[in-house]
Amino acid sequence: MSADLHIHTNQSDGTFSPEETVKMAAAAGLKTISLTDHDNVDGLEAAEQIAARVGLELIPGIEMTTETAQAEIHILGYYLDRRNPGLLEVLARIQASRIERIHTIVQKLKSLGVEIEASDVFALSGEKSPGRPHVARALIKKGLVLNFREAFKRYLDFRAPAYVPHFKLTPTEAIKLIKSAGGIAVFAHPAISKADDLIPELITSGLRGIEAYYLGHYADQVDYYVELGRKNGLLLTGGSDFHGEDSGRETKLGDFSIPDELVDKLRDEHSRGN
Ligand code: AMP
Ligand code: ZN
Ligand code: FE
Ligand code: FE
Repeated sequence: MSADLHIHTNQSDGTFSPEETVKMAAAAGLKTISLTDHDNVDGLEAAEQIAARVGLELIPGIEMTTETAQAEIHILGYYLDRRNPGLLEVLARIQASRIERIHTIVQKLKSLGVEIEASDVFALSGEKSPGRPHVARALIKKGLVLNFREAFKRYLDFRAPAYVPHFKLTPTEAIKLIKSAGGIAVFAHPAISKADDLIPELITSGLRGIEAYYLGHYADQVDYYVELGRKNGLLLTGGSDFHGEDSGRETKLGDFSIPDELVDKLRDEHSRGN
């Protein structure tokens, strides 16, 4: 039995509902999961109910999108209080900004001659944390690109022509927000973010863990971040970043997992903090 602490649902850019995701995780033999939707905790309540019913340990989670001038950095938050008013207030502002951002991305695409409407994107996302993967799916559906790869490379990547920045939140602000909501802040997929130089500053701001075990990390990267985490007294976490079907990723729940001991340490840290 084992754990996957990085999973998306249709409350952001995953394709399965929180309920379906919990059931699939249990069926795949996972013992503990965390749902970590982008900038959103709306799926957690329904997930908790199903998790209790199927006997799966569910750690409340979130993945917050932050940006610096150099990089996009994702900060995971575990055990945060999904009802915390300060958290919900910031998330509501981020959600409004994500909706606005889709309109701006669509305008940029139109100016590039790509005939797509915001409504095509919202038809796929609802208004829950809409993002670039929903734009990519809409482009594929309209036959304007072949696949996710092309959508991101031609239009949506960080430096591609239809890129639009996110709500301005620094990694430090996200860490403090997670902390203020009772959560444990963890640096997500560090090898993808490529911002190791920021780690000391993030630790000073309250970062307590690093996602060394990430499905998208090569083995040598895992080793490197395990060592870096140990040296800095950080908790080690891990996950698959499962997004469901048609998400430009091939993985299934249960394909990747981390040992229970890592979850025990995370849980202990949470128990000590409260
Ligand atoms: P957004 O929150 O709108 O910036 O979208 C970011 C999400 O897009 C990431 O969390 C990934 O799920 C997805 N993503 C980013 N780059 C790619 C890519 N090249 N291929 C597929 N999905 C990607
Ligand atoms: Zn995503
Ligand atoms: Fe991420
Ligand atoms: Fe993710």
